[in-house]
Amino acid sequence: MALTCPNCGNAKTFLAKTLQMHVVKAGGAELELSEQTPPAMLELLCDDCDTELDFGSIDSEQRREMLLLLGVG
Ligand SMILES: [Zn+2]
Repeated sequence: MALTCPNCGNAKTFLAKTLQMHVVKAGGAELELSEQTPPAMLELLCDDCDTELDFGSIDSEQRREMLLLLGVG
């Protein structure tokens, strides 16, 4: 399946939500970022109607490209 909204047919603009975890260390003079994990893909929504797309069912080439684009590990 190509990247297309099943609800409104939009195939151009999407909202990708990613989740990233940070480890912040306190106790020193300043807060410090000690670790950063790569972001994980959380949700992919249509930018027109907010319908959630099933990320797992889109074209594998596009899926790979999207993960690369977002820096999702
Ligand atoms: Zn839509």
